[in-house]
Amino acid sequence: MTSKNLVQKLEATIQNIPDFPKPGIQFKDISPIFLDPTLYKEVIDELAHFSRNKIDVICGIESRGFLFGIALAAKLEVPFILIRKKGKLPPPFISQGYDLEYGSSEIEMKAGQLKPGQKVLIHDDLLATGGTTEAAAKLVESQGACVSQFSFLISLEDLKGSERLKSYNAEIYKILSY
Ligand code: AMP
Repeated sequence: MTSKNLVQKLEATIQNIPDFPKPGIQFKDISPIFLDPTLYKEVIDELAHFSRNKIDVICGIESRGFLFGIALAAKLEVPFILIRKKGKLPPPFISQGYDLEYGSSEIEMKAGQLKPGQKVLIHDDLLATGGTTEAAAKLVESQGACVSQFSFLISLEDLKGSERLKSYNAEIYKILSY
């Protein structure tokens, strides 16, 4: 369980920016966490505690899922695989589309980096509607790997992302919920 202390420190550090990047969005700015190396390490320790000995590989979602995901992979001594926005990865790669509030988007992962049967943690900084994470889970399953865990620093509970991820039967961990 997350220590009350860590939750309080994160609540005091993460900034809420109203109406960014669009009117009506409450943007959670995590960048002040990186000004406090002790807090950053505590977050990595917390995420590591959740995933230790339970996963074979971490898939992190561009771009803020890289900020904690890669350090977490190094700490747990497991490989890290990049899930990137369309057009950033050289071939061979696989793609998965998903719907946004207006329009649609795609994410991509290098083909062949994930091995069939591997137990995967999908990590991102924030869970909102769950659309991006669900697309990442589809990429993972398309490679014959298994989504074992999801982790996030922040969950925006009103947007019900967790419900969207239920069908994966994987553990879901969020340090902070708003
Ligand atoms: P979703 O696919 O709706 O779950 O959106 C999750 C992705 O969008 C994550 O990669 C977040 O970094 C980003 N995101 C969505 N809403 C916010 C928000 N209010 N503040 C910061 N990032 C957000």
